[in-house]
Amino acid sequence: MNKPLPPRNATMLLADVVRVAHVTPGMIRITLGGDTLADFEPMGFDQWFRLFLPLEGDTNFALPKKIDFLGYMHYLAMPKATRPPMRNYTVRQFRAAERELDIDFVAHGDAGVASGWAARAEVGDRVALLDQGVMYAPTDGVDWQLFATDESGLPAVAGVLRDLPRSTKGHAFIELGSLDDMQETGAPEGVQIHWILRDPGARPGVAALEAVQAFEFPPGSVYAYVVGEQSLPTSLRRWLVNERGVPKANIMFCGYWRIGSAH
Ligand SMILES: Cc1cc2nc3c(=O)[nH]c(=O)nc-3n(C[C@H](O)[C@H](O)[C@H](O)COP(=O)(O)OP(=O)(O)OC[C@H]3O[C@@H](n4cnc5c(N)ncnc54)[C@H](O)[C@@H]3O)c2cc1C
Repeated sequence: MNKPLPPRNATMLLADVVRVAHVTPGMIRITLGGDTLADFEPMGFDQWFRLFLPLEGDTNFALPKKIDFLGYMHYLAMPKATRPPMRNYTVRQFRAAERELDIDFVAHGDAGVASGWAARAEVGDRVALLDQGVMYAPTDGVDWQLFATDESGLPAVAGVLRDLPRSTKGHAFIELGSLDDMQETGAPEGVQIHWILRDPGARPGVAALEAVQAFEFPPGSVYAYVVGEQSLPTSLRRWLVNERGVPKANIMFCGYWRIGSAH
């Protein structure tokens, strides 16, 4: 199996909000810009980063310059009252010529620090980001690829679909709370997108899990990429291994968030 790719530049980059838009009703697209983004090393696919947000009223935004092991210890040792909160996000799009980086935030309300910040973000707001590299690491020579996620992984899955070799075959199951949140993915012709609508009040991820389980798999070997609310990747991985005999090495799974718990 191929390995996830580490970041090419692991230094903290400051960036400013240059645009805010509702790309769909449930997804807020924040575009960051700024000279330090000249040092950002785009890797495409599901490249992700740690996003540091200022505490309300914090104009100083003091962070260690480098979050290596020592820098991270220093960050964690900061008193909670003055420590900028950190969350994980995906590079939805990077435009090198403009030095602009888009982030798509699921708008899940004020319960979330990041979601609340995105809902109130204004041009000029400052954040910091620390590249983490690429998780998508397909097994060589598989016959087809399977993707499953809820809306939190739409930016990652769409990024992978956009950058896949055009000859790739596969199926992507993307669960949404509303079909108004569908997006263009730029997937290769041979990758079929299955948009799955979640019933109001249903637990996120269950509809996507059931849709994959009910699906007749194409013949041949598969690489699976499963992200989203914690129980989707863990349940689907278990099912793929136990019921479909998919080797564990052919599955990338990552819990993106957990119901009722701040990350
Ligand atoms: C590698 C990686 C990449 C990610 N990329 C993205 C991305 O590009 N866009 C994106 O929107 N998310 C992404 N996520 C998920 C994101 O990090 C989490 O959803 C995170 O918890 C959001 O932080 P918050 O401050 O808004 O909410 P938190 O303060 O962490 O949580 C507060 C409450 O909100 C709930 N909650 C958290 N996330 C969601 C959600 N998506 N829907 C409904 N309720 C939620 C929690 O259960 C909790 O009850 C990614 C996660 C990982 C690990």
